[in-house]
Amino acid sequence: MTRSADQTQAGRGRVERPNAATYKEAGDTLRAGGLVAFPTETVYGLGTDATNDEAVAAIFEAKGRPRFNPLIVHVRDADAAARLVVFDDRAQALAKRFWPGPLSLVLRRATDCPISLLCSAGLETLAIRVPDHPVGQALLRTASRPIAAPSANPAGAISPTRAEHVADSLGDNVDLILDGGPCPVGIESTVLDISGETAILLRPGGIPVEALSKVIGPIAPAEAGTPHASPGMLASHYAPRLPLRLEADSVRADEALLAFGPSPVAGAAHTENLSRRGDVKEAAAKLFAALRRLDQPNLTGIAVMPIPETGLGAAINDRLRRAAAPRDQKDRPQPGTYLLDKIESIVGSKGLITDAEAMAPHLNELRGRFQGHAQCIVRPASTAEVAEVVRLCAEADTAIVPQGGNTGLVAGGIPFEDGRAVVLNLGRMNKIRALDAANDTITVEAGCILHDVQQAAAAADHLFPVSLGAEGSCQIGGNISTNAGGIQVLRYGNMREQVLGLEVVLPDGRVWDGLRALRKDNTGYDLKQLFIGAEGTLGVITAAVLRLHPRPRERASAFAAVRDLNAAVDLLGRMRSAVGDAVTSFELFPRLGIDLALAHVPGIQDPLAERHDWYVLVEITGGGGGDLQEALEITLTTALEDGLVPDATIAASQAQTDSFWRLREIMVDAQKSVGGSIKHDIAVPVSAVPAFIARASAAVSALIPGIRPVPFGHLGDGNIHFNLTHPEGADKAAYLARWEEVNRVVHDIVTEFSGSISAEHGIGRMKVEENRRYKSAVEIELMRTVKVALDPKGIMNPGKIVPR
Ligand SMILES: Cc1cc2nc3c(=O)[nH]c(=O)nc-3n(C[C@H](O)[C@H](O)[C@H](O)COP(=O)(O)OP(=O)(O)OC[C@H]3O[C@@H](n4cnc5c(N)ncnc54)[C@H](O)[C@@H]3O)c2cc1C
Repeated sequence: MTRSADQTQAGRGRVERPNAATYKEAGDTLRAGGLVAFPTETVYGLGTDATNDEAVAAIFEAKGRPRFNPLIVHVRDADAAARLVVFDDRAQALAKRFWPGPLSLVLRRATDCPISLLCSAGLETLAIRVPDHPVGQALLRTASRPIAAPSANPAGAISPTRAEHVADSLGDNVDLILDGGPCPVGIESTVLDISGETAILLRPGGIPVEALSKVIGPIAPAEAGTPHASPGMLASHYAPRLPLRLEADSVRADEALLAFGPSPVAGAAHTENLSRRGDVKEAAAKLFAALRRLDQPNLTGIAVMPIPETGLGAAINDRLRRAAAPRDQKDRPQPGTYLLDKIESIVGSKGLITDAEAMAPHLNELRGRFQGHAQCIVRPASTAEVAEVVRLCAEADTAIVPQGGNTGLVAGGIPFEDGRAVVLNLGRMNKIRALDAANDTITVEAGCILHDVQQAAAAADHLFPVSLGAEGSCQIGGNISTNAGGIQVLRYGNMREQVLGLEVVLPDGRVWDGLRALRKDNTGYDLKQLFIGAEGTLGVITAAVLRLHPRPRERASAFAAVRDLNAAVDLLGRMRSAVGDAVTSFELFPRLGIDLALAHVPGIQDPLAERHDWYVLVEITGGGGGDLQEALEITLTTALEDGLVPDATIAASQAQTDSFWRLREIMVDAQKSVGGSIKHDIAVPVSAVPAFIARASAAVSALIPGIRPVPFGHLGDGNIHFNLTHPEGADKAAYLARWEEVNRVVHDIVTEFSGSISAEHGIGRMKVEENRRYKSAVEIELMRTVKVALDPKGIMNPGKIVPR
């Protein structure tokens, strides 16, 4: 903040009539980072420069407002709004009809949006409106910048509709109060979230929702657990000191009465009638002033007569319900309060983390792209504890984010920044419950580390085949929830193929025991499939029965150069026709990937003497008949003779096999070491991989000349990590800023091949919008239907996978 000490202190809290001099003073104060209260048609706002972080922080301080509660930014007109947010057709239509006026729109922030992130409470959205009050408009003109302005009162208390309300409650915390008389609408703006496909009503207000629906069609109500994208979503708000009693048809002598209509009930100590003629518009304008007058220390409560839900009545009743809500809910997010105490009573002190430092590893995504906040991390030790915690959170409408090893690459296990969710980490549930060698199954708890399950299987002379780079820390629950793939999918399939049974805690706390170890069970819907790949949005997986496989007795691997990508696909076909399903892995490398590894990763050697454009790593495993090495040799020799394979080397030792795999594992790090890489995790039919890589490489090169494609990965599964290193000498940040633009080009081509934009890593938070773009409306609607059927309150990992 750039205010001088003199400016800061002199005459704070002064109430002035608006005129040329006071407008000038107010504009100067705002530009210097000060706080000016001013009237809008809804309520008085506490305004400051929305682009100044320190000034915005001062608003939170002055109001005692929780940081997870966003602020509405006021601008002069729709053109000014369109410079700050992604202003789509719906926004245009609504702005045309209702701006200036009491409507706030929640939209995605524009890439170069200069508004302080504090206004968004860390979300990717911004609430914005154009006020229709001459003083508000004049101030916006004089300040010549967007103004962040929540209601000018302490957080949670009754909103101010007159200048004296502001002076009484905030006084010295404000630099200047402009007195423009009573606010004509008297109730806050309607807040509509149109940042996603579905329009969601976050707060009823000065414009009835029916009027909005006429312009943009259906509007959904906000679900419990909806990220806190707007003010007015706290359970307890607008509260006088006295308790409120709603729908009163009688009143006690020691109560005040908030009346409505021509026949107020008799007997109250003090009565305020919102509208004798039963007009909700008049009632809205009078509501907050009347509540203030009724809030008298010598009384025991305020009885409120019924008010119809029609028109502005919906907004009046919303305010009254929040004013009547139990006050302890207001402070719910704070440690030590009701919910956290209850959770601790279920899981004990070992199972609850509230210390910021200890919580941090659970709140940050591995690659540092997402940093969430949460009320706490809960680490239950049993299914019963998980069930109790989930039941409690369901009762408290509190979102739950299930989490395993937190190695996911799309932030599915990271909570949103509003800090209202509870992270439920399964790490303490890490027992192997049973291993049935004769049935080839293992029953494990969700928190078992993948590597430990592989080891347990090996100790019983079996194989658990899912294998991936994060296997030392990812957990079975996370593997199932992301339907993890890895390097042996070609032979054994994804995680889905390994799961025979599941135990799941449902979003209402009931336990579904589906731990069946059967290969045949046609007794209706295969419910376990719903939870596999659901990324924690439908329930918490607590245990699983997994399929085991015979341990391979023999392994042969080769590193081969291929003439081109068509030759690589051809070689895969030849291998499979030679040894069938024994082909376990078939991984692709481009020359640039090898070059980057050789240049930047110590200890790496080029497996072949000559340089070639493309290479594959082939691995064959089998039962020990002793013929795999020979089959590999014969197939490669024939391919060499036919010109498909210019050169190849077959591993003569385990060390050599390991060196091939090391090269594969460091592909990502090799790219990282040269700078920025825009990534794609796509799948197309195996036969289409050559055409896809050719088309996509040409398209991105046309978009960004000099871009360096490094497509590598699971060619045998049609799953290519189509990663794009920046042009040599290019600015890394400027390059990475084009991430979405490049994604669009690549994913459009993936779609033309009927492919997948996320073959392994899932959707999580990162690809929700992308998924919505590429899936059909029918698919998205079906996913929503499933979500609502299992999780009607929307508390289970909300905002992940399924667009809101
Ligand atoms: C180096 C590296 C290599 C990788 N290689 C691969 C690869 O080859 N193939 C691949 O598919 N992935 C890969 N991944 C991604 C990641 O490791 C996997 O997605 C893994 O399965 C995630 O497991 P996790 O326990 O870490 O889950 P988390 O990251 O904790 O969570 C992932 C998702 O599952 C949900 N979840 C977690 N546990 C539960 C539960 N018990 N019940 C309900 N929901 C739950 C979370 O809410 C979240 O949405 C790799 C990651 C890294 C870092």
